[in-house]
Amino acid sequence: MGERTLRGSRLGSISYETDRNTEPAARQPGVYRCHKGHTFTVPFSDEAELPLVWECRLDGSIAKLVDGVEAETKKGKPPRTHWDMLLERRSVADLEEVLAERLEMLRGRRSQSA
Ligand SMILES: [Zn+2]
Repeated sequence: MGERTLRGSRLGSISYETDRNTEPAARQPGVYRCHKGHTFTVPFSDEAELPLVWECRLDGSIAKLVDGVEAETKKGKPPRTHWDMLLERRSVADLEEVLAERLEMLRGRRSQSA
């Protein structure tokens, strides 16, 4: 082997950790499988978005991310929308009232300018 470097080794060496961070970053494994059936895991920082494809470590072909249990449990809680937060403060009936007021205002403005 000697001097010969594997194609794609540069890709595999990309680190998402910062040099300043002395604490070992939390890891989430990305599981990849290529079309030849090679399965391997690539450790990523917990904050990193898992790439959908990775170069196969055995033959250099494109391996696809296998959606594992980790990804499922991590995304188990859906993010709150503005609408959710709005509903926590106001009931739908309240909102309809506000909307009706607004619409009336808009219509009034439009008829004035016409
Ligand atoms: Zn492979």
